[in-house]
Amino acid sequence: MATRRLPPLPTIQDLIRMYQLSARKQLSQNFLLDMNITRKIVKMAGKLEGGFVCEVGPGPGGITRSLLNTGANHVAVIEKDRRFMPSLQLLAEAAQGRLSVYQGDVLHFNMGQIIPEELAKPWDKTPPNIHIIGNLPFSVSTPLLIRWLAAMSSQSGPWKYGRTKLTLTFQKEVAERMVARILTDQRCRLSVMCQYLCDVKLKFVIPGRAFVPAPEVDVGVVHLVPRVTPLIQLPFPLVEKVARHVFHYRQKYCRRGVETLFPVHRLDLLEEMFEASGVDPESRCFMLSIGEMDRICHAYNDICQREPDIFAYNYRSRENAAKVRRKTKILTEMIEEQ
Ligand code: SAM
Repeated sequence: MATRRLPPLPTIQDLIRMYQLSARKQLSQNFLLDMNITRKIVKMAGKLEGGFVCEVGPGPGGITRSLLNTGANHVAVIEKDRRFMPSLQLLAEAAQGRLSVYQGDVLHFNMGQIIPEELAKPWDKTPPNIHIIGNLPFSVSTPLLIRWLAAMSSQSGPWKYGRTKLTLTFQKEVAERMVARILTDQRCRLSVMCQYLCDVKLKFVIPGRAFVPAPEVDVGVVHLVPRVTPLIQLPFPLVEKVARHVFHYRQKYCRRGVETLFPVHRLDLLEEMFEASGVDPESRCFMLSIGEMDRICHAYNDICQREPDIFAYNYRSRENAAKVRRKTKILTEMIEEQ
């Protein structure tokens, strides 16, 4: 299919000047004005010809233009900041029906609703020609990623149409954590959460100075393709809870983190969990493979099936109760001393 190009348009710099679109610090806005970089990001998404692309946080529309210059059939953009609407509408007119602009918060936007059903592919077949792309603020990208991974695990939202791929930017350190292998310093909860559900690749790094204004950090472009079969076949909230607890004490034996899954008087369950999973309680969490995480999650799941109250247990309430006890003791001592 022939690449469809946009007619000549004012540059992004001109649009920023024309519509006085100064970057807002509170929305962590850092714009990409270099079209070589926006083209490179779009290229990382794969073949877009005839496809549907959803871009989150288009801002003044640099990546959007590069998307429209591919043969993508339709591009939908979701932008929170109203100030960008006129420049995006200008782009929509030039795109002659190939661009839809939505003003809203992507965290509350039902993306599944705007995807054309005819592009759907069965989950176990090649991914559909549906793509999610975004250069989002760092404060939004990680919580959004966790929500998307949850939707992916239940094959809902954009994943009810098959294994929709994502191409997203993250602070370089976060991107490195997402792809981190075992035995590396960056290995963390996010590595496990991304890798058990997706094939995840750090494609390239954009130096901070390429953005306007320049953030203090570099940025990694990450590509995620959902796996046909997740490496841990258990409900997302359970895997998320176990991974969060296991990686709670990075420098200590994994036993210390796993312990926080259980009330103090139920340490018998902790022993049971290590015995059933065959994982060495003296491994450090960054040494645990996804296979070992899988066994830990299954052992925990078996316990929760038998004793449903265990899943609801929150050690933070235990910590809070301990804090209240400590504070009360200090106050009592102070009063007694007076
Ligand atoms: N894509 C543009 C670029 O690369 O030049 C802008 C990137 S800027 C880092 C992030 C964009 O996301 C801004 O336009 C900001 O207004 C938008 N944004 C921030 N939070 C958002 C949210 N919750 N929902 C939708 N857009 C959001």
